[in-house]
Amino acid sequence: MLIKLILLVLGAWIVYRLVKNSGRTTVKRESAQKNEIGEDMVRCVQCGVHLPRSESIVSHGEYFCTNEHRQFHQK
Ligand SMILES: [Zn+2]
Repeated sequence: MLIKLILLVLGAWIVYRLVKNSGRTTVKRESAQKNEIGEDMVRCVQCGVHLPRSESIVSHGEYFCTNEHRQFHQK
C-alpha cells in the first residue's frame, strides 16, 4: 500500500516536471537562438566565462561577468 502511494507521488512528480520543462525549453531555445544570431559573446577577463555582451560589465575595454570580478581585476 505504501509503495503504491510512493509510485503515485513519483508519477505525479514526473508529469509535473515534464510539463514544467517543456515550457522552459521553449524559452531556453529562443534565448539561445537570439544569442547565436543577434548577440556577441564576450569572455570575462577574470575567470574566462563566456556571456552575452549585454549581460557583461565593460571596464576599460575589458569584459567581466560580475561586478565583483571587475573590482577584483582592478586591484
Ligand atoms: Zn568572471
